[in-house]
This record gives sequence, C-alpha cells and structure tokens, in this order.
Amino acid sequence: MALVDRVLLGPGPSTPYPEATAALAAPLLGHLDPEFLRILDETCDRLRVVWGTGNRRTLPLSGTGSIGMEAAFVNTVRHGDPVVVAVNGLFGERMCEVAARHGAEVHRVDHEWGQPVDVERVLAAHPAPALVGAVHAETSTGVRSDVGALGAALRARGDSALLLADCVTSLAGIEVAVDDWNVDLAYSGTQKCLGVAPGLAPFTINERAWERRIPRPATWYLDLGLIGDYVGGSAGGGRTYHHTAPVAMIASLHAGLGRVLEEGLPAVHARHAEAGRRLQEGLEEMGLSLFAAAGQRLPELTTVRVPEGVDAAAVRGRLLTEYGIEIGAGAGEYASTVWRIGLMGHNARLDRAELVLAALRRVLGR
Ligand code: PLP
Repeated sequence: MALVDRVLLGPGPSTPYPEATAALAAPLLGHLDPEFLRILDETCDRLRVVWGTGNRRTLPLSGTGSIGMEAAFVNTVRHGDPVVVAVNGLFGERMCEVAARHGAEVHRVDHEWGQPVDVERVLAAHPAPALVGAVHAETSTGVRSDVGALGAALRARGDSALLLADCVTSLAGIEVAVDDWNVDLAYSGTQKCLGVAPGLAPFTINERAWERRIPRPATWYLDLGLIGDYVGGSAGGGRTYHHTAPVAMIASLHAGLGRVLEEGLPAVHARHAEAGRRLQEGLEEMGLSLFAAAGQRLPELTTVRVPEGVDAAAVRGRLLTEYGIEIGAGAGEYASTVWRIGLMGHNARLDRAELVLAALRRVLGR
C-alpha cells in the first residue's frame, strides 16, 4: 500500500520538522560510535536549554511520553507514599493509574475538564505528600495549568513534596522553566511541539529528586541509576552499556532541537502563540465555540465544540480524505462533541492555521 502525505494536525504526531525527518534517513551510526555519543551529549545539552534547567540528569528516555511518566513514578514512589495528582483531563487520570500501580496512596484532585488546575485545592489535598503531579498542557482539553504557581506554593508552604510535571504537549511550544518553577521531575514526548516522530521521552530530574530516588526500583529498564550511567557524558560518570540506544530517533531529536534553537526558543514560542491565536480567532469567526477556559487556552492544541447536528466523525473523515488534513476527535466523554486541532512544531504557522480554517469552512458550509 502506498503511503500518503498528510498534514497531521491531530493531538497525536504532528508533522515533523523537515530537519528531523531528514535525520531519520541519514546513514545509521552504531550506538557506541564516538560520533553518535557526541550527538547524544549534544542532544542532552539542547534538551537542558528547552527545559530551562541546569539538571545534569536530562536525557531522552527510550520510549514514548508515557515512559517518562512511568520512570518518574517507579523511581521515586515507595509503597504507601501519599501522592497528590491534579486531574483535569485524560493524562492526569493516567498519572493516577500509573502512581497507583507503583503502590502510591493516590489523592486525586478532580477538576472539571476544560478548566486549569486549582493550586489551592491541590495544596489542600494532603498536608505532606511525597509527590505532587500535574499536567502542564492537558492534550485532552487544550488547557494550560500554572505549574510555576504550583511549584511556588509548595515551596512557600515549606513542602518537601517532589513536584512532577507532564510537559508532553508543552515542551518547545510554550514556556517551560523547570528550574525557575521548582519542578523536580518532568517528562515530555518528541511528537508534539518538538517536531520529531514519536518514540522518545525527554526527561529531567534534579538533585533533590535524585537523592530521594529508590536505589533499586522495581524495574531494570527504567532504573534511572543505570540509564544515567549509560547516557553518561555531561550527565555524569563514564559510560557502561545499558541498552541499545535508538540511534536514529536520537539523531532526529538532535536535529529537531537544533532547528528549534537556531530559530530561538522565544521566536518558536511566539510562532506557536501567533498560529494558535489565529486558529482560535478564525474558529470563533465561523461561529464555533471553543472548549477550553478562556485565558488558559493552549496555542498549540485547540479544542472546539462540534456544532449541534454535525456528525463529528464525518467531518474529520472529509478533512482527511478530501484535504489530507488530520484533526483529532475529543477525548473521553467528549469524543463526538469536541474536535482537537494541533498546531505544533512545524505546523505552528499562520499558513497552517488558515489552511485548516478554510478546509473546515468548506466542509461545514460556513
Ligand atoms: N501526557 C500528555 C499530556 C499527552 O498528551 C500524552 C500523549 O498524547 C502522554 C502523556 C502520553 O504520551 P505518549 O502517547 O507519547 O506515550
């Protein structure tokens, strides 16, 4: 079957940056080749810049974004530890599930979907949690939560809790400042605003969390102590074999990050902001209603209500077959009442915003 070219505007993989795609097709290096190790070191350095951190232990984990979530919990949560999770969408729910499977006593703080995390309610959930988890950019609802305010409030209370942030849909799309926000651990994915294919989980952990990690966690593959030695280089220590690094994916991430840093992070954020603003404005001009709370909308992921009487799946199908544009369905109970449109990484451009608006206008007859 011939592969077709799509404009990927769903919440899943976004269209990668051309540099990242080209790197995937480059001649393969061995995973211990000095040139590959140089690329790996540089990738970790570049990740530190986009994360806004000086954390030595900043690396791409082998696996999709979810492996970052899994690694965070399995390395830090002991059986019976109280863990507070802010839930304002699907990925907060996933955090609860993962934390529970690793033995945490989970205190979930539920929010209405479409609303940001309420810092006061999260603080009130437990007087001394071991860890607090929140999703910075909820892909299921298109909402941004103020992780910086959460980090500041925890520190102001004198909390010793570790703060874990899910930045899968925020990294390299909107500001992320791990060190300034007192985030102890964070993970992301490559397929969103970083503009690379899915397959790696950029991860960062600070000294505070490192000191508290479980020395021999109930995982071999995701034991950060072992992985840290392998990634080695500027992350500290020599290199010992742990697993065969996915060299092509790391080369692709290296290239995607190179592209982002060459453009400049502030310019990349501004490009996302401008494209998202135009898309959201255009949808409202069409008479559609946005789902996420005003003032907290992500520019990179827009949620919009399906108009009354419109078959949501049929519209998505027509966009795909007639225009080659993939947009996403709503998540969970909003599967047929909300669409999710991503303008991430390479797609975070005004021309992409206008393209999807024009196609949608035609399909909806508006
Ligand atoms: N967290 C958020 C906010 C996400 O959007 C996603 C995926 O879309 C994940 C976690 C899980 O990442 P992955 O599907 O790459 O495993």
